[in-house]
Amino acid sequence: MNSKLVILTLLTCSLQACSQQTNNNMDNSQSQTPTQQSGTSQYRKLTPEEEYVIVDKGTERPFTGKYVNTTATGVYVCKRCGKPLFTFKDKFPSECGWPSFDDAIPGAVLSQPDPDGERVEIECANCHAHLGHVFKGEHFTNKNTRYCVNSISMIFVPADSTAGTK
Ligand SMILES: [Zn+2]
Repeated sequence: MNSKLVILTLLTCSLQACSQQTNNNMDNSQSQTPTQQSGTSQYRKLTPEEEYVIVDKGTERPFTGKYVNTTATGVYVCKRCGKPLFTFKDKFPSECGWPSFDDAIPGAVLSQPDPDGERVEIECANCHAHLGHVFKGEHFTNKNTRYCVNSISMIFVPADSTAGTK
């Protein structure tokens, strides 16, 4: 009787410890930085497709994105937090299948090598949403840089709609 109780207690304890650990892992950023939590609650809610690219650093299929061939005047903002990332002025037709820019709005985009070191990832400097990759030395434009961005990571804001807020 007693030994059964002990085993049960031990089992319950270890289960609790296990679930606590899982919670800790999942909520790490939120529980430790409450200010960030209030910030993230302002982020746009993402669909599973958006989350696949923006959070899980996936890549949309080439030539399927909404902004591959967009040339209209305006600004491309982060889909998750809304910060301006690229302008139409820096967009160019690369025919690689994804929207391409040879420059970003200063300070808006962070770049860092992929874990395998093969490519350089770009992300939103504000909310760290995955945007795509940046390539140099391809001689597409004078700046010799190609920000290769997933359409799904951005929202295009036509110039007309920003004129009043400028
Ligand atoms: Zn962002």
